[in-house]
This record gives sequence, C-alpha cells and structure tokens, in this order.
Amino acid sequence: MDLATPVERLPRIGPYSAEKLRILGVTRARDLLTHFPFRYEDLRQIVPIAQAKVGATVTVKATVQSVRQGRTWRRRLATIECLLSDDTGSIRAVWYNQPYLADVLRQGGRFLMSGKVVRRDKTLTLQNPAYEPDRDILLHTGRLVPIYPLTEGLTQRQFRFFVSQVLPLARELPDLLPLETRHGTGFLPLADAVRAIHFPDQPDSARRARERLAFDELFLFHLRMLLLREERRKANAVPVPFQETKTRALVASLPFTLTLDQKRAAWEILKDLAKTHPMNRLLEGDVGSGKTVVAGIAMLNVASQGFQSAFLAPTDLLAQQHYATFAKLLPKHGPTVALLTRTTAAWSKKASATRQGILTAVREGSLDVLIGTHALLEGTVAFHDLAFVTIDEQHRFGVDQRRTILAKAAGATVPHLLSMTATPIPRSLALTLFGDLELSLIRELPKGRKPVATSVIPSDRRGEIYATVEREVRQGHQAFVVCPLIEESDALGVKAAESEYARLRKDVFPRLSLDLLHGEQKSEVREATIRHFRAGTIDVLVTTAVIEVGVDIPGATVMVIEDAERFGLAQLHQFRGRVGRSDAQSYCFLVGDRENGPAFERLSMVARTTDGFALADEDLKLRGPGELLGLRQSGFPDFQVARITDLALVRRSRDEAHQLLEADPGLRNHGDLLAAVRRDAQPVHWE
Ligand code: ADP
Ligand code: MG
Repeated sequence: MDLATPVERLPRIGPYSAEKLRILGVTRARDLLTHFPFRYEDLRQIVPIAQAKVGATVTVKATVQSVRQGRTWRRRLATIECLLSDDTGSIRAVWYNQPYLADVLRQGGRFLMSGKVVRRDKTLTLQNPAYEPDRDILLHTGRLVPIYPLTEGLTQRQFRFFVSQVLPLARELPDLLPLETRHGTGFLPLADAVRAIHFPDQPDSARRARERLAFDELFLFHLRMLLLREERRKANAVPVPFQETKTRALVASLPFTLTLDQKRAAWEILKDLAKTHPMNRLLEGDVGSGKTVVAGIAMLNVASQGFQSAFLAPTDLLAQQHYATFAKLLPKHGPTVALLTRTTAAWSKKASATRQGILTAVREGSLDVLIGTHALLEGTVAFHDLAFVTIDEQHRFGVDQRRTILAKAAGATVPHLLSMTATPIPRSLALTLFGDLELSLIRELPKGRKPVATSVIPSDRRGEIYATVEREVRQGHQAFVVCPLIEESDALGVKAAESEYARLRKDVFPRLSLDLLHGEQKSEVREATIRHFRAGTIDVLVTTAVIEVGVDIPGATVMVIEDAERFGLAQLHQFRGRVGRSDAQSYCFLVGDRENGPAFERLSMVARTTDGFALADEDLKLRGPGELLGLRQSGFPDFQVARITDLALVRRSRDEAHQLLEADPGLRNHGDLLAAVRRDAQPVHWE
C-alpha cells in the first residue's frame, strides 16, 4: 500500500463505497489523507454512568450485560437494546435498524459508547450511541471525533475507518515547503499536521495542524498568482488607441447619462487597452450599477481599430440579454455583433444567420463582437484577430475556461481581459489576496434609483406580500417569485417551483398572468418567457436560482424569495438586484420562519442594508472570519483549510512566497514545488 494505491484496493472499501468516494474526489490513498474534517465532536469526557443526565451527550466506558433484539411498537423498526454497566450503575442503549449490531455487542464485552441520554419507557437510555470496543486506538468515541464533509451513502464512521487505515502513509507525503520557508515558522511538520488534523489529541493540536495546512494552501496560491503575474508582464497585447470621436458619439447616443463612476471605469479600461501588454482588470460594481455599457464602450474602441472582441456570459439567458443590448447599441456606430450559445445563433447584420455563417465570419474577421456562453470556448470557434475579452459574472467561470478563451488571440499576443463582477467583496480582502490586479469600482448607482425596500416576512404573513404584488401589477409592473434552493438536487428545486407556480396561479393570483422559468426548460422556451416578461405580458414570473445573476428587466419591481434562509447573503443580494433597475420604487420580500433563529436574524441584515459592500463587511463581523457566507459563490479561491479572512496568515504566506521567488524567480531549484503549483491549481478566478 502506498499513496497512489486506488481506494478500491484498500481493505473494506467495495465498489459502492469507492464510487461514493469518487464523488468526493477521493480515488487514491493520498486523497483520503488530504480530505480533511471540517469540525470535531468533543467526546473526550468519559463519565461514570451514575452521572449521565437526561439531555446530555456523554461517553461511558461500560460492560455489555445483555443484548436483546426487538421491534418498535409503532413503526416496526428493528431495534437492538443492550444493558450496560460500570462500577457506578447501569444504563440502557438502543439502536434502530442496525440488526448487525447483535454480532458486535457481545455479552461481557467492554465498550465505549457516546451518545445522547434520553428517557425511554422511564429508563435512562443512550439513543443510537457511537460504539467502539475499549482498546487503544479510538476513532469514534472518547476523543475529539472528526466530522467530514461527505456525500450520501458514506457514513462518518466508515470514513474515519478508511482514513485511519492509511494514516501511517502520512509519513510519505512529500513536504513541498522549502526548508528556508519552513525554517523559523514554527509550523508542525507535514506528516504530524496531517495526522493531527484527522485525529487530534487535543483542540490545540487540531488548531496547529490547520495552521500549517492552511499556510501550505495559501503559499501555493500566492506562488501561482505571482508566477502568473510574471508571465503576464512578459506577454504582448495588441495596443488599441483611444477613439475619441466614436466614443463620444456612442456615449451621446445612450438613453441616459453615464455616472461618474462609469466614466472613470471606462477611462481606466481605455488607457489599459492602449498599452502593449495585456490588461487584466476587474470591474466591480454592485448589481444594477451599469457595468455592461462600460464593456460596450471598450468593444467599440477595439472594433474601430479593426480587432475582434469576445464577451462571455455564464448562462444562455444572460448571453441573449447582452446580445439584445449590444445589437441595439453598437451596429449604428460600426461594429457588427453576433450571438453564439449551444442552442442559439444570431447576427445583427443578417436576419437569418446560421451557426456556420457566424463561425466563418469570426474566423475571417468580418465579425467584430461575438457574444456567447461556454459555447465560445469550443474548438470550432476560431477568431481572426481577437484582442479583447470580457467575462461577465466572472466567478462563474473556472481557470481553464478563462485560459481557453484567452488562448484564442491572434499570433503571439494575449487579449486584454476585463472581468466583471457584482460580488460584494470587502476591498481590504480583495487587495490582500490579489494585490496586483487592476481594480475599477462602480459604487454609484444611476441617478433616480431608489433603494429596494426590503422586508423579512414570516411565512404565515405571505398575504401582505401578495397584496403588494397585486398593487404593483395594477400599476404595470412585474414580480419575480424565487423558489427555495434545494441543495440535494436541481430537479427537486424545479419541482418546488412547478408546484408553487400551480398554487399561485390557482389559489392566489387567478386573475394575473403567471409563467414559470427554470433551468430544465429548453433554451427557446426560456428565451420566449423572458421576452414576454420583459414586454409586460407576464405579470408574475415563478422561477428558481437561474435568475440569480445579471438578468435585467427594468419593469420588474417586486422580488419575492421563498425560504430565504437557504440562500447565502451574497446570493440574496444578487436576487434583490433583479429589481430596482428603473426609477420606480421596488420591493424585496424575504420569506422565512422565525423558528430558524439565527438564520432568520441574518435576513434582517439584508433588509437593513442595500449596499452590497457594506453587507459583506457586516457579514464578516457577524459571522466572524472564515464564515463569510456565500463565499463559495463569490468567486474566492476555494481553499480546503485556509480561511481567506485570516488576514495575518494570508499576508505571512504572501511575504514568504515573495521571498522565495526573489531568491529563485522561476522556481528552478524547487521543481516539485513548481509542479505542485501548476497541478494543484485552486479554482482561482482572478488571476
Ligand atoms: P449590472 O452592473 O448589474 O450588470 P447593467 O449593466 O445590466 O447592470 O445595467 C442595469 C440597467 O441600468 C440597464 O437597464 C442599463 O441600461 C441601465 N443603466 C446603465 N447605466 C445607466 C445610467 N448611467 N443611467 C441610467 N440607467 C443606466
Ligand atoms: Mg450584469
């Protein structure tokens, strides 16, 4: 057995478990070692049976006096009951639906048992306790017991056992931290850290293990960022000089005046475009702040110099919306615009465009701006002279996708890159992690926008919401109803939306026009629905998280979010951003249940502030470092152990990475480390 041994060759891992492990990304022994617990249950305290109290979770060390199989009276579940005793007294233990325990819990055997004490038929009883023979190495009881992120079909107990089997291999894990970096940091050696993060003997060893492993993650991350920055600095790009006359004409043709922040952002981008090395700029602006038109200005400049632009959007819905925007805006100033998704193709110049026709025009250079989804990444899409790429909602794309589109540039150049996001990230955090990225901020919303009036409504008061919906519809506006996120599967979410749609149509809004939009519908169906909604022939759109990002329907003024506690703060803020996109007053209702305690409280935070940046800061304060909700969706690198809000460690690892690169710029003397930096690329979204 070594680190590379496939898990199915390890004892007691059959094809079923191996398949489940694969879902977790665990295919080899080493992956078991590096799949870390996210918390521990403290079952260290062993209590004499006489001191076990109802309601407490305790561990006892006891002898099995008797074992009895039975059935529950009502649901006819198979039960195993056993009587346990120590010097101080006896207690009963009961398990449901685990008949095999009859073979494990032999009379006279000594066990540790950890579980909750309840009163059952007037007797103190341990309910479904974790059990373990009283021997030297404890995994499930009588210690800090690791709890892992798992998937259905695997139990914590199994996983702990799997890990314990390969734990001796921790010694063989190559420690990539260079000696000079390790020196003086006071960190645990790698093997000790790996052993301790799984089975710590006390909380402090778990903490130290985490610190060491988090440092490794951050250190690799920084090295990767710094190396990429070097590469980018050396690369060439097509310089695009500022086209003053055309830009002025475009801006003058807009139905609104640009905000100061929009002008500033556009100017920063245009200055970058004129340089001979590739731009890498993030345009961060709260939802509805008007980022799209800024990208449009840049694309006009690029097209006027005879070069091509690509504009990537994460969903069909969004790509279609952007196409509609740009096809209206750009062609009268020169640029031709086309749309390409997996299912749709359209071209501003030709009413009946074929996919093939568009691909040819892109290849031959007769098309200036190509808008699309992941379809743009396919090999069949070849550009003639791509000089500029915009990625909208950049956190929805992975590194590889980014790289694929950037590799489509002309000759030996790299296209200028503009990433756009509405993710409210505290600035201090962004700069610490991505200090070298150019950042443009749009903080100011267009004139006349009113903050979205947000309220938290307990589910038994939905009537108030529906009254507002009726009133707004009478005034010619529209409403969204977002159905709960169902973590287990998309299909369940779609089902929930379907039944909510049926209920609203029949029982609540029989006189309004309702429609349904979700991710499992055909793209043409969704497109038509959105078109009707935009045109105002649909009053209420019942939908799922598919409308989370980007969708721009200025006439919509009500956003109802069912089971709002299920969504992250950043996500809620995104949903809310679907309304409030005109100068009409808009409303957002977060439906929740008071019983959900803290989660319900969190909602009121969203209600109190409409500034996404402030919201992120408040979330940070409320939940503490590392718990920043919605982090996963917000485009931060997805670390396993490291908490990016641990600024001290983030900075320290960054300094160490800098130092190492100063001594060894291309990591030529650290081949293994370089390979790991390349291989273990975190899904970094902002390089
Ligand atoms: P986001 O930054 O969320 O991507 P969009 O670019 O979709 O926002 O813009 C939101 C809406 O605001 C669009 O309907 C757009 O036409 C409009 N808009 C953009 N800039 C302005 C402005 N300066 N004044 C008024 N409306 C604007
Ligand atoms: Mg947008």
